[in-house]
This record gives sequence, structure tokens and C-alpha cells, in this order.
Amino acid sequence: MRVACLTDLHANLAALDAVLAALGPVDAVWVMGDIVGYGPDPDAVVARLREIDAIAVRGNHDAAALGLIDVHDFNDDAARAALWTHGRISPETRDWLAALPERREIGDFTLVHGSPRDPTWEYLWSPAAAAANLGAFTTRHCLVGHTHVPLVFRLDGGRMETIEPVDGTELVLDARRTFLNPGGVGQPRDGDPRACAMLLETETGRLTWRRIPWPIAETQARMREAGLPPRLVERLSAGV
Ligand code: ZN
Repeated sequence: MRVACLTDLHANLAALDAVLAALGPVDAVWVMGDIVGYGPDPDAVVARLREIDAIAVRGNHDAAALGLIDVHDFNDDAARAALWTHGRISPETRDWLAALPERREIGDFTLVHGSPRDPTWEYLWSPAAAAANLGAFTTRHCLVGHTHVPLVFRLDGGRMETIEPVDGTELVLDARRTFLNPGGVGQPRDGDPRACAMLLETETGRLTWRRIPWPIAETQARMREAGLPPRLVERLSAGV
């Protein structure tokens, strides 16, 4: 089975469609949350995910769009975007987001947004944070998002090693436990504005990271039209 592993779509339909086109036919799409928030197309992104039968978990921005968390926990721009999203999404989008669980287990994989011990808020940036989460899930591997940066932590003996995937990086899963972050689709933050995606072949355990160009100006124009904060518009060009 070929699985497109995506996260942090952030209501960016142009980026999502570019990624789906570049990856080609897949058997499943798994999404590690932050489907909406920041971007101009929350309803269209959710409609696309429904159309392709994506399997998803809820992120902090999805929870904010539903009014489940206080936007004062966000910085000013994120809060403004969250309120815009909250006031705009359709009842169908709201219902679909509200039905998303915080975690799912599929075979050898646990899917969460932030971390298994704190799916909503914790960022897995460091090997120490990853090691502290090993007891919080029982599958061999854990798929995460939230940082908008592609990153792998792999337990090798007693040591948690760090791998920083770039475009074309391949990795074959084995008995070692891993945390796998595909990187962000809708708002990459590692200085490369291209969208991130990770392909998983479940039979072989082969993972491939991809960086995919997308029509940045299109989304930026839609954000300006919507009156979303200028800093959020500009950061898309820089990938930060
Ligand atoms: Zn996010």
C-alpha cells in the first residue's frame, strides 16, 4: 500500500493539490492535523480530504477553528487567523473536523499532531522530547506534525538519533522505533517554501520525502483578499 503522509495543510488548497498531483496515485492519505488555520481555503481543503477519503487527526488549529481551545494561547496573527476561520467554516466542515480524533492507530503506526503524550500542544523538536514520549504510544512508529519541519527521531540501542530529511531522502523502517514528521504542506518553516510530503510503502517500509513547488502567489492573493494578516501572507514566500 502506498500512503501519502501529510500534515499542517493549513487551509492551503493550492499547496495540497500540488502535493497530491506530484505524488500520483496512492492507496491512502493520512493527515496529522492542522488541516485549517492560517490559510484562505478551509472549506475547500476539507472538501478535498473528504473526496479522497483521507484519514486524519485533529491539530491545535483545527481545535481552535471549532472553538474548543482559547485563541489567546496563540500569537496575535495566529489568533486573528483562527477567529477568521472559526467565523467562516461551513457546518459541514465543522462537523467533519469535530469528528476527528486526537490520535489514531493504523497497523504499526500511531498518528498524532504534536506528540503522543500531548497531541495538541507539544512540539517534537529534540531527541530528548522524543525519548520522553516513547512510553506514550504502543505501536512501533509514531507519525507527527506540528513543527512544519521534516524530521525523524530513531531509537538506536539506547540512543535517540536525529535525521533531517531533504527532497529525495529515503529511509527504510526496521525494528527500531521512530518518530516521523513529513514536514508541512501548507506553511513550511525550514527556509524552503516548497511543500513537504512523505510517501510510505507499507510492504517494504520504505519512506521517501519530497519537496514540491506550488503556486505560492495564488494562495497569497487569496489571503490578501480575505484580509488575513500580512505577516502570514509574506512568510509563505520565505518558508519560515
Ligand atoms: Zn500547524
